[in-house]
Amino acid sequence: MTDGRIRRQRLVLTGYSDQATAGVVDVRSFDRAERLVHAWKGLALAWTGALVGFFIPVAHFLLVPGFVIAGVVLFRSKLGAREITESMTGSCPDCGLKQDFGLVGRWEPPHTVTCKGCHRSLTAKAAHNGGS
Ligand SMILES: [Zn+2]
Repeated sequence: MTDGRIRRQRLVLTGYSDQATAGVVDVRSFDRAERLVHAWKGLALAWTGALVGFFIPVAHFLLVPGFVIAGVVLFRSKLGAREITESMTGSCPDCGLKQDFGLVGRWEPPHTVTCKGCHRSLTAKAAHNGGS
């Protein structure tokens, strides 16, 4: 799916050490209409699972309510996802490993990621230095 708008934003990564390092995040943002489409698609997918699960003996006691509840949860989650990260890169302030943090979900800074080198928790905040 290629909808939404992507913007690149500078990051400040902090960990246990005193110094912070720089990073970059690509954030995809969605307007209300796009979020509604995603929410309805998620709900339809989950409720289709509930419909299929209805025809499976015994398991339907768990599958049907599970997919119905999952559909509602998915709908609410996708409706609230204004911005998601496409990619996040940066260097760990503790061990110095330059890495790609990959997809880290919703973009709601400060965001916590885990270093692949030292496995420490890092905090990513948006850098406010006047750049675009
Ligand atoms: Zn590290």
